Amino acid sequence: MSGFAVIGGSQAYDLLSRGAIHGKRLGPRKTPFGPSQPIYIIQVDSQTTAQPVEFLFLSRHGERGYEVSAPFVNYRANVYALKDLGVGRIVAWSGPGAINPRYKVGQFVVVDDLIDETQNRQSTFFETGGLGFIRQSPVFCPALRGLLVEVLKGQGLDPSDKGVYVCTQGPRLETPAEIKKFASYGGKLVGMTLVPEVFLARELEMCYAALCYVSNYAEGVVKREFKAGELFEGLSSQEDKVAVARAVAQFPNIILEAARRLASQSASGGGPVDPTKCPCQTSMERYRREGRIGGDWRRWIKK
Ligand SMILES: [Zn+2]
Repeated sequence: MSGFAVIGGSQAYDLLSRGAIHGKRLGPRKTPFGPSQPIYIIQVDSQTTAQPVEFLFLSRHGERGYEVSAPFVNYRANVYALKDLGVGRIVAWSGPGAINPRYKVGQFVVVDDLIDETQNRQSTFFETGGLGFIRQSPVFCPALRGLLVEVLKGQGLDPSDKGVYVCTQGPRLETPAEIKKFASYGGKLVGMTLVPEVFLARELEMCYAALCYVSNYAEGVVKREFKAGELFEGLSSQEDKVAVARAVAQFPNIILEAARRLASQSASGGGPVDPTKCPCQTSMERYRREGRIGGDWRRWIKK
């Protein structure tokens, strides 16, 4: 089974329904936290060996449209289900707004830090007393981020490898004063989905990196009139929509190439990631040494 998975964000359902991403549908997976979103196995030619490369795909918001908005996604079920299927590395995508106007709409950003502004989301697997202090620096897997940046550059795109993602609760958009506040403490992009996903992946010792594309400018960053009946009520312009559609159309090629490169790293025997650049897969080592958790990760979580 694949060791790599992609969690698709907004418009992943469009790529599925149009067949731009296609594979065998495994369906939703039962977990102690309820059913996950349906999972697909994707196969792609490796281009270097006869064996195809396999990875898993899950659309965070649903299969047919934006069925489950960000605050209501069952993040624990999705991450648990992927781990249960043998996944060790996750690339997640998200389409945040830009707080900093230097980003261009449609630009790819491999974010490197995060501020959690969510409220009351179920943000840990260890809900019955739990384990203690799990370090969150680096927040995202540096090795996986490096691989994504290489893939994007290899496809002629011009990614940024820096960005502090502010994760809000939603589903409403932010007020102008909130965006000013986020900017004042270093936020560069604002979205609603990477929390608690990234923290849950760390609890299960999975590598996690986020591939963001800028969807629009956040409230107050540029002047946009209110337009009834439009996407984000006019916060997004017609040019923005074209740039976003162009970015989303790149996703199949990006994730297929990332899957190929990860598979070829594994096949070359060097391991998928440089351990000095990846703290993810040993993030729970202290608790293992203390004897508080054992070898079977499923038993870490008492339900
Ligand atoms: Zn890692």
